Amino acid sequence: MSYEIAILRGDGIGPEITDEAVKVLDEVRRIVPGLDLNLTDHEAGVGLYSRTGDALPDATFQSVGAADAILLGAMGLPEVRMPDGTEVQGRIIIRLRKGLDLYAGVRPIKLYPGIRPVVDRGEAVDLVIVRESTEGLFASFEGGTEITDQVVGDTMLISRSGTERVSRYAFELAGQRQGRPSDGRSLVTCVDKANIFRSLAFFRRVFTEVAEREFPQIGYGYALIDALSLAIVQRPADYDVLVMENMFGDILSDLAAALNGGLGMAPSGDIGDDHAMFQPSHGSAPDIAGKGVANPLATILSAKMMLEWLGARHDDEAARDGARRIDAAVAAVTAAGEVTRDIGGTSSTQSVGDAVVAALPRDAGNPDGR
Ligand code: ATP
Repeated sequence: MSYEIAILRGDGIGPEITDEAVKVLDEVRRIVPGLDLNLTDHEAGVGLYSRTGDALPDATFQSVGAADAILLGAMGLPEVRMPDGTEVQGRIIIRLRKGLDLYAGVRPIKLYPGIRPVVDRGEAVDLVIVRESTEGLFASFEGGTEITDQVVGDTMLISRSGTERVSRYAFELAGQRQGRPSDGRSLVTCVDKANIFRSLAFFRRVFTEVAEREFPQIGYGYALIDALSLAIVQRPADYDVLVMENMFGDILSDLAAALNGGLGMAPSGDIGDDHAMFQPSHGSAPDIAGKGVANPLATILSAKMMLEWLGARHDDEAARDGARRIDAAVAAVTAAGEVTRDIGGTSSTQSVGDAVVAALPRDAGNPDGR
């Protein structure tokens, strides 16, 4: 099948890491029979904001929304602020999430061979954080209330429909996976603070209704966000899919990257019923921009997630095949230690991209071969 892919390279390290993902997608398109990808660049971010006062014009929003999927590098720079003091990426990323109704923030935390993570428990790490991405504490984005110049409030909003659909997404995902690494059991964990907040007690209640009504064959459990922040680091193999409110997911997915090599290894997807956007979990990393040392693997793995999503949505084996080949190539590259300095190597951004291209299996029947 043929897909229109909107590319938003963005700011800081965004362009350099996106270049490598595009290089990999170009090669995948060349070697996978029946897969055609039409990649189109769109400008958004700090440069555009500085020139025009608009980081994501309506016309760009419409064009990227019309594509089959969006691949985004990284947006925003701390020195460029909107009049209210916030950075421009909120305007772009949150607008895309809300405008395209991308309600499931999917953040796989998987340990690739050869990588020694910051926290190494010597056990397999293969879990997915599903973050509700349209409401929760981010619901009041641009709508926080300055009651006086001494008191400001942001409101947590949890809806039944929002909780039902993200819970459903988490259970469906668990149904497609191999279960948690410790014993292969499929398990969806609801992460909340239901002992204190009414909003999160409601989130837990609606999650439980979805579990019992629609997914009796899949195990489920609960965890409080504070206790879980330690448990996930101590026993990562006990977790399979975890679903939670927006802000908790934002924080926990950065923490969980300590289990798989850091932010440079953390891909993500923002997924809705009709649209999806894929981007690394990290930001624009201005401290290393332009130095050729940024790890492009989170972006390359986000491109892999994009092909998986297209494959599932269109029942397209060619797209799934492309995703499997990228996964095998990344595993070969990390196993060989051809990686950037954030995960213990000496390779440049560009040479990691080249290594992934060279490691792409040429034959779908031999996904592990180089
Ligand atoms: P945001 O709020 O936009 O997500 P942030 O403030 O969390 O951004 P990041 O840009 O994600 O910050 O960077 C956090 C740290 O991680 C920085 O020291 C940065 O250099 C490092 N980092 C982020 N991405 C990468 C990468 N791809 N390769 C290597 N280091 C990275």
